[in-house]
Amino acid sequence: MTRAEILTIGTELLLGEIVDTNTRMIAIALRENGFDLFRTATVGDNPERIALAVSDALEQSEILIAAGGLGPTVDDVTREGVAQALGLALEFRADLWAQIVERFEAFGREPTENNRRQATVPKGSIGIENPVGTAPGFIAEKSGKVVIALPGVPAELEHLLEHEVLPYLRTRLATPTVIKSRKVRTAGTGESWLDERIQDLERMTNPTVGLAAHPGRVDIRITAKAATEFEADEMLWGIEATLQQRLGDRIYGTDDETLEFAAMAQIRKAGLRLATVEAGTDGALAEAVAEFGDVFVGGEVLREQITVDEMGQELERVRGELDASAGLGLHVAANEEGVEILAVFQSPGGDWRLERSFGGAAPNATRWAISLALEAVRRRVEAK
Ligand code: ATP
Repeated sequence: MTRAEILTIGTELLLGEIVDTNTRMIAIALRENGFDLFRTATVGDNPERIALAVSDALEQSEILIAAGGLGPTVDDVTREGVAQALGLALEFRADLWAQIVERFEAFGREPTENNRRQATVPKGSIGIENPVGTAPGFIAEKSGKVVIALPGVPAELEHLLEHEVLPYLRTRLATPTVIKSRKVRTAGTGESWLDERIQDLERMTNPTVGLAAHPGRVDIRITAKAATEFEADEMLWGIEATLQQRLGDRIYGTDDETLEFAAMAQIRKAGLRLATVEAGTDGALAEAVAEFGDVFVGGEVLREQITVDEMGQELERVRGELDASAGLGLHVAANEEGVEILAVFQSPGGDWRLERSFGGAAPNATRWAISLALEAVRRRVEAK
């Protein structure tokens, strides 16, 4: 298995001035092409630290993709850092210089002396022409290890990854592995509840199983590596079947299926038309279900706090006005001490209500409340 690492370079990343979207872009490209991403790192514009990070990466991995620091100024020191780590001298390359001059000419401009730095690469590197910017990238190889240095500007990086780097990697290194992943989505359980039931799965190395918690919902991600897509799928299905067995109806969907989708599918199966009334949520409930316009007929957002009885009455009024056979009311009252959630459901098949309170400040109180209410709808509303 070929291991890869990513190194993003730029002091502005370390200062938190820009968000590192390049790591994500490269990670996705590596995954889609069957490379195992071992680690990612970020360093500032400093040749020694770049050299250290490059050496570190190459101790573990065969491929390092570095992004950023290839500009024309003295702050752009990726070339120096990589050369130092690989023990190579820097050389000025007339072929790369010719490309840079040509790019400038195409814009009716002339390169400056500074731009000559951009035609300088570790000795023996393969140059990567950059048709969408001025900084060429380069591929430096040593003892079977590869460092691929690319410009940090996301659009340039994306172009070079797709058109130069991935084709290069695919041909140079055999990549017989496919990596596939699947999300199994649950609601109404805590992370620790799940943890107890699937600990043995979480300890596996292939496929791997991991949890990602969101307010009121936990996703279980299964990732499988195999020689073929079919084998990877089989591994995913195996784990998914085990999860179904152990977690049953706590699972509301897979991959892109949201809890909103699952709850509204249940409303549809019951032949209902749903109206909502909400308070303390800024209209977030109606927003969450707005895309299901075939069964969600509209909602009202109340600005005041109301009692359980008032919620019931408001819901009846709004249902009447909107000609909705079902109604979901949600009230969230949050302060520093805690959160009180009230959900009220009305339908010809039966009414119910749900009250929950949590201690402590809850920055995601509304998200929790929506998850709670939609999960109750999904489980309690009966199909026709
Ligand atoms: P060029 O010489 O073409 O400008 P460069 O390799 O010198 O490229 P940098 O100077 O490191 O690139 O970055 C250029 C710009 O690209 C940054 O100012 C920033 O806007 C963006 N950028 C750099 N790194 C990242 C990153 N990791 N994620 C998102 N954006 C980035």
